[in-house]
Amino acid sequence: MQPVDTTKPIIVPRPDHNLSRALVDDDALWLMRKLRKAGFKAFLVGGAVRDILLGNEPKDFDIGTDATPSQIKSLFRNCRLIGRRFRLAHVYFRRKGAQDKIIEVSTFRGDRPMEDTSGLKPEDLDLSGNAFGSPAEDAWRRDFTVNAMFYDISDFSIIDHTGGLDDLKKGVIKLIGEPDVRFTEDPVRMLRALEFAVRLDFAIDPGTEAGIKSNATGILAASQARLREEFRHMQQRGIMGPVLRWAHRLGLFSPLFSQAEVTDGVFELLDHYDRGGNDKRNSMEYVYVASLVMPTIVASCPLGPDTGLDTATEAVAGPTTALCSNYQISAHIRHKARELILGCYRLAKGRSYKAKAKFSRKAEFMNSFELLKCWNTINDGEYDEVVQFWDGYLAERDTPQQVQAKRRRPRRRRRPRPASKPTSES
Ligand code: ATP
Ligand code: MG
Repeated sequence: MQPVDTTKPIIVPRPDHNLSRALVDDDALWLMRKLRKAGFKAFLVGGAVRDILLGNEPKDFDIGTDATPSQIKSLFRNCRLIGRRFRLAHVYFRRKGAQDKIIEVSTFRGDRPMEDTSGLKPEDLDLSGNAFGSPAEDAWRRDFTVNAMFYDISDFSIIDHTGGLDDLKKGVIKLIGEPDVRFTEDPVRMLRALEFAVRLDFAIDPGTEAGIKSNATGILAASQARLREEFRHMQQRGIMGPVLRWAHRLGLFSPLFSQAEVTDGVFELLDHYDRGGNDKRNSMEYVYVASLVMPTIVASCPLGPDTGLDTATEAVAGPTTALCSNYQISAHIRHKARELILGCYRLAKGRSYKAKAKFSRKAEFMNSFELLKCWNTINDGEYDEVVQFWDGYLAERDTPQQVQAKRRRPRRRRRPRPASKPTSES
């Protein structure tokens, strides 16, 4: 465990920093004031302090306090205690016509299990051995120096135990403590370092970067669910390409995605989808799955008119299914990723593809065509001919409006058949 640095924190008084209360969420302010009135410490912690100091809008406002979870719960009616490993409190705020706002309030944590827990209530006890600590201990057990600053509501000062203010000025993501210790303790921090560096356009401290390199395979010990959660954040922010490119340079990529054996083209595909609209990215986990395995699939099964669709189906299934099961990605997303790539194999058949009309009206068609065009650009126009064919096909094909208009046009009345003449026999 980390020895706690006993040097005094840097305290920046209100006139000397730009974190104004006007930039802090009203409910978070209310919460901190209420904790204060009840005699507890109340700090704004983590990402919100970092983001406001950088002039960015925080995603959420987390609060740190010396009140125990049960004390927090008795102060706030709209509060639920969560977490088995670390107990923390979620305080809910109703919002008209929107989802409830949740503010996370956590008791300062330390490193060592508490020797005497007799004063604590059962709801304060958790699997971590209940290591409540001082604000300094709490700061030192956070991940990066820029994520470990506090804003103290009692005097509006910034408290910096780990050198975060300096790193914020320098634009550096620096791990707190010894890389070998901290990355073994929680390997997800390696991915988070890259994520924050890309997101904030920061450098990574050389010691931290070297630590990632030498601990890279340790990422295999991380919880897949937590890694997937980090990937989802990266997708929403449109930074999958640069983060995973960096991960590749540091040896973190292949332990994360052993199914993506061939990486030529992966990062360009990710960049392409990163540039997509925000709403689009939220529901597009499947395009990222497809981007990761596409080059590997194409390397084993040529993307061209002569590849049978049965063969392609099998080739697509292998790495896609393996990646999805590794990260417990749903069958629905797996299916969409497979169809997206398989669509490229259908398109690669060009003129000779029999079900052109039917396929071209399906929703997957345009998505697969987008992927094929992007793959074509990455591969210097290798598929120009087939792309031109489908562009031409689409231009000639009826537009949906034309199809509608045809449907609306009144049917021609059939001329009534002449009444059949009675035959001579009848
Ligand atoms: P975001 O804007 O993405 O929410 P954040 O800094 O708030 O960024 P969170 O994942 O919400 O990040 O975590 C909140 C805080 O908890 C971090 O700022 C950091 O201090 C601490 N933290 C999060 N994950 C870890 C970890 N794996 N190890 C140590 N501290 C962590
Ligand atoms: Mg956060």
